[in-house]
Amino acid sequence: MEVFKDPSSLQKFLFKERCKAKSLGFAPTMGALHQGHISLIQESRQENNLTVASIFVNPLQFNNTKDLELYPRTLEKDLKMLEDAGTDVVFLPSAEEVYKDLPRLKVNFGHLEEVMEGKFRPGHFNGVAIIVAKLFHYVNPDRAYFGQKDLQQFLIIQQMVKDLSFPIQLKCCPIIRERDGLAMSSRNMRLSQENRQVAAEIYRALLLAKDSLGNGIEKAKEKAMAHMARYKELEPEYFEIADGETLAPVKDVKEHGKLAICAAVNVDGVRLIDNILIKIDSNN
Ligand code: AMP
Repeated sequence: MEVFKDPSSLQKFLFKERCKAKSLGFAPTMGALHQGHISLIQESRQENNLTVASIFVNPLQFNNTKDLELYPRTLEKDLKMLEDAGTDVVFLPSAEEVYKDLPRLKVNFGHLEEVMEGKFRPGHFNGVAIIVAKLFHYVNPDRAYFGQKDLQQFLIIQQMVKDLSFPIQLKCCPIIRERDGLAMSSRNMRLSQENRQVAAEIYRALLLAKDSLGNGIEKAKEKAMAHMARYKELEPEYFEIADGETLAPVKDVKEHGKLAICAAVNVDGVRLIDNILIKIDSNN
């Protein structure tokens, strides 16, 4: 496994590899890796000759400095996991290099960034779009792998790739969960043992909403919120049922091909997000 810190040596290396007609898959991460991240590497390895991962905790996408400071950093363990998973190249840029000049560009994704994460984390998706665009330029992949875990982020990147004609195929990979259903997240390691158990109720609330969709959107949301209200440790920030592609509000389920049920919940100061995507059968 090759490890690069500076973009120009990475680019030199990848240019040579590309001349051997290798297809290149890329999975950007912020480190503190778990099986969810590794699933992206596995998917990339199946579809490409060369797999590149990056680890960069992007300051531009944190609107809360405490959250940035507390973000777990486990570089040695991460490198071992990436190597064991068969990653070919790891890119570890520094903030000084990436943001030598602070970007002045501001991007606006309209409705896609006005709801859910965008509403509660002002500036977050601007930071995400800028770092992903920069990483795409450094790595120049054929395919890039993201998790459905950050569904809104995926939809935003998809829009950016389309609007700016990046010649990159995007892949949205399924959410990898713990045995009790909790979506794997780097933030889970900040949970106490007790809160870790309660956190699994977030997924149960999503499933309850899904099962209650037949009674209408509002009833489904109420059911999920009532479930979470039983646990004092869970402080929901939002719980939304939206179109799975546009995140537009849903009134009549039958008018949508896909629905996304999305939640952000604070568990004793640790902010967790999760979602489920549902295909709607228009014959029903
Ligand atoms: P992060 O390091 O949190 O920025 O995540 C890097 C990538 O891994 C993003 O595309 C995430 O959506 C994806 N990811 C994070 N957690 C999971 C998970 N539990 N299952 C699948 N993909 C995930």
